Amino acid sequence: MAVSPEFLKAEREQPWRVELRSKMKNKERTALTRVHMNEVDARERILSNIEVNQGLNQVQAMAEAQRCLDCPNPTCITGCPVEINIPKFIKHIECGNFADAAKTLKETSTLPAVCGRVCPQEKQCESQCFYTQKMNAEPVAIGYLERFAADWEQNSGQMAIPEQAPANGIKVGAIGSGPAGLTFAGEMAKKGYDVTVFEALHEIGGVLKYGIPEFRLPNRIVDVEIDVLKKMGVKFETNFVVGKTANVEDLQEEGYKAFFAGSGAGLPRFMEIPGENYIGILSSNEYLTRVNLMNAANPTTDTPIISGKRVAVIGGGNTAMDSVRTAKRLGAERAMIIYRRGMDEMPARVEEIKHAQEEGIEFLTLTNPVEYLADSQGRVSQVRVQKMGLGEPDASGRRRPEVIEGSEYLIDVDTVVVSVGVSPNPIVPDSLPDLKMTRWHTIEVNDDNLQSSIPFLFAGGDIVRGGATVILAMGDGRKAAAAMDEYLQKNQ
Ligand code: FAD
Ligand code: SF4
Repeated sequence: MAVSPEFLKAEREQPWRVELRSKMKNKERTALTRVHMNEVDARERILSNIEVNQGLNQVQAMAEAQRCLDCPNPTCITGCPVEINIPKFIKHIECGNFADAAKTLKETSTLPAVCGRVCPQEKQCESQCFYTQKMNAEPVAIGYLERFAADWEQNSGQMAIPEQAPANGIKVGAIGSGPAGLTFAGEMAKKGYDVTVFEALHEIGGVLKYGIPEFRLPNRIVDVEIDVLKKMGVKFETNFVVGKTANVEDLQEEGYKAFFAGSGAGLPRFMEIPGENYIGILSSNEYLTRVNLMNAANPTTDTPIISGKRVAVIGGGNTAMDSVRTAKRLGAERAMIIYRRGMDEMPARVEEIKHAQEEGIEFLTLTNPVEYLADSQGRVSQVRVQKMGLGEPDASGRRRPEVIEGSEYLIDVDTVVVSVGVSPNPIVPDSLPDLKMTRWHTIEVNDDNLQSSIPFLFAGGDIVRGGATVILAMGDGRKAAAAMDEYLQKNQ
């Protein structure tokens, strides 16, 4: 699906872009400093779920857009898994054509307001920007600008509904309503298919709703995008577990011709150390789902969560960071990350680590839990940890943690959130005995078209990749839609 250099060149040579480039010398552009994101002060934001990043205003966005050099070889695009035409949308912002900037984003990304908030740009587009690569300088703030344009469109009240081919009456199903399923649904609706999304939970959005907290990604942002899909005719069936409520064969009998499995990787992993079953120890999935979707932060609901005062979160990824920052907002006096490697090896986004530090989260790095202790009621009261050193890099390329003998000590805790990884959701695969799986329990697909061993079933996102990212899940949804369309054209 690579964008051809000829196409990019032709777009870059359009008169409005040539004129814009001529208005300012590259030297003047590179002399500008990168914009800072407007943020709510840490002391204020830990008291509520208010969104931490407040976005750029128009003046800031247009000034930042001037930094972009509109490069002849825009390497930034190669760093974007869905190949957004980055210089084109940024140059529209520079001119003040915000609607066109949003339209450019929508050409390849279904959820730009989401991606502008949660994509690891520092590892993707921004890492490939000319400034990073050739000048050893701060990259253009591509993510902030993406969010700006997408928010502008949402706030304008004029969300563009993508053009659609005439309805073809062919029924297809998406299993799961995370970013993979939503993107697939949007792409198939554009092609004229009759699309239904089946979602096990009562809310639509997958991890975007049940995992990532409001202070990072407000639900209203996701809901606006879901509304667009509804306006395009996409139907949603919530509280519908494919493989339990109905099987794929049942749905075939109802006329569905093909399916996309985007059922994610929401099965929590534990460390299997002594005491892990004590009361007060939960997985990050349970913790975040209860708070985000079940109103558990409210003590008067049917599903309250115990707001611990000394909360230890085990792990160093985005999920761990979201959990520990949630604990802080629920009133924890000590909210700690316990991570067996060092700060440099943490997989969480750099921005999330920075925000967590500002909010007073304690980072106990090079530290690993080995056992939990409980009070007489069976409630966790302490965690025994050991100190770690770092050895040579392992298969993941990160330095291997090594135990420092005799370094064990106890930390008082009343809540522990285990956030050491997830496995693919098993219900869909378990209900399809002929489906080939990998040894990591992910669905095996053909890399070229995401078709599984069952020809009418395509799959993508975390159910294929294990825990990955929003943008990769979206890229898969798009790729699978193109491949399924081709398959159905040939097999109708
Ligand atoms: P999901 O988003 O997991 O959606 C799958 C959906 O399928 C779920 O709603 C599930 O209920 C449903 N489902 C499962 N089985 C069935 C069934 N049998 N029938 C019907 N429905 C079913 N990525 C980033 O890029 N940036 C971040 O900042 C980031 N932060 C994260 C924070 C947290 C707390 C977590 C958990 C993940 C984070 N990720 C982040 C990862 C990212 O969210 C995932 O990679 C992405 O959501 C995967 O999308 P998906 O559509 O494959 O699956
Ligand atoms: Fe602009 Fe950087 Fe992309 Fe060049 S590489 S077009 S400067 S964002």
